Amino acid sequence: MKEYNVAVVGATGLVGRKMLQILEERDFPVRELLPLASGRSAGKEITFKNKPIKVELLTPDAFRKIDIALFSAGGSISKKFAPEAVKRKTTVIDNSSAFRMERKVPLVVPEVNREKIFKHKGIIANPNCSTIQLVVALKPLYERYGIKRVVVSTYQSVTGAGQGGVDQLEAELKNQTLEENTFPYQIAFNAIPHIDIFMDDGSTKEEWKMVNEIKKIMDDKKIELTATCVRIPVIGGHSEAVNVQLGKKFELEDIRNLLHDAPGVTVIDDVETNRYPLPILAEDKDDVFVGRIRRDPSIKNGLNMWVVSDNLRKGAATNTVQIAEELIKGK
Ligand code: NAP
Repeated sequence: MKEYNVAVVGATGLVGRKMLQILEERDFPVRELLPLASGRSAGKEITFKNKPIKVELLTPDAFRKIDIALFSAGGSISKKFAPEAVKRKTTVIDNSSAFRMERKVPLVVPEVNREKIFKHKGIIANPNCSTIQLVVALKPLYERYGIKRVVVSTYQSVTGAGQGGVDQLEAELKNQTLEENTFPYQIAFNAIPHIDIFMDDGSTKEEWKMVNEIKKIMDDKKIELTATCVRIPVIGGHSEAVNVQLGKKFELEDIRNLLHDAPGVTVIDDVETNRYPLPILAEDKDDVFVGRIRRDPSIKNGLNMWVVSDNLRKGAATNTVQIAEELIKGK
């Protein structure tokens, strides 16, 4: 089997470390692994396949011999270094929001739009974590019934904000204060309706990312979607309360069966035994978990559901590695 030189940019971060773990778990055909980070971590060691590997400084020339680079060091780093990697014939799979909405950059969730991977011009974008889990659950409904409108409220974990988010929650739980906080308010025992920056219309960028990314991935500008994104003091796993207006009449049992058979989805839905998806159940799993499936009688063809997934895995690292797997499999 052909093997590839793979770089992980941001290899010391929460997503980067998960990428290394998943490349290893899924036995991605890595010939050489190059972990890259800033001067803060260059020289430190990470372990890959039981071998220590030195973290190197991210520079344009680091990509000279790299076939595939998985980027996860923030938007400004991607903007600066992804084009440098592409110049050196590296294919970039980028986890940041830097290129997601660029027309020529495919935005991919393999269960939904695998075919777009092969239209890339050097960069493939990985959607936002809260988008990925939602689109995996919506796709089968969209195909069978059509979707008119989605109203989603998210309950997002602190790992979604990187290591700094975890550090803040842990410090607050121990009554300690950090020099610099990640969230604008205390996150312990709180819920903050503010993720990413505010836009002119009063929504946050995170909320607009969900709207725009879903339309792009589904390749349908007509789907109406509105989101409220909230940070909660959960360490890992994002949850979403999703209200969908389908395009046609439906039977609940058919929806359950459809989701049950959908790739990447696990249905946990038995209220008689108190079984429904929870972030702690989703932890370290790749699936998107769907439950609390019920009718919304307040609108025509209305459906409610609760969607949970591990944001560092399917919301970030797993989806990126899956894109890389499909890329090397080819059309
Ligand atoms: P994180 O834990 O804060 O890690 C950031 C990583 O970026 C570290 O490896 C850091 O290296 C590296 N980095 C920072 N500045 C750098 C520079 N100037 N040059 C090279 N490397 C630099 O953050 P994260 O949660 O892993 O998120 C990383 C990216 O993934 C972000 O774009 C984020 O939006 C995206 N993402 C995150 C999630 C999630 O659930 N967390 C989901 C989807 C997408 P040092 O060790 O050298 O500081």
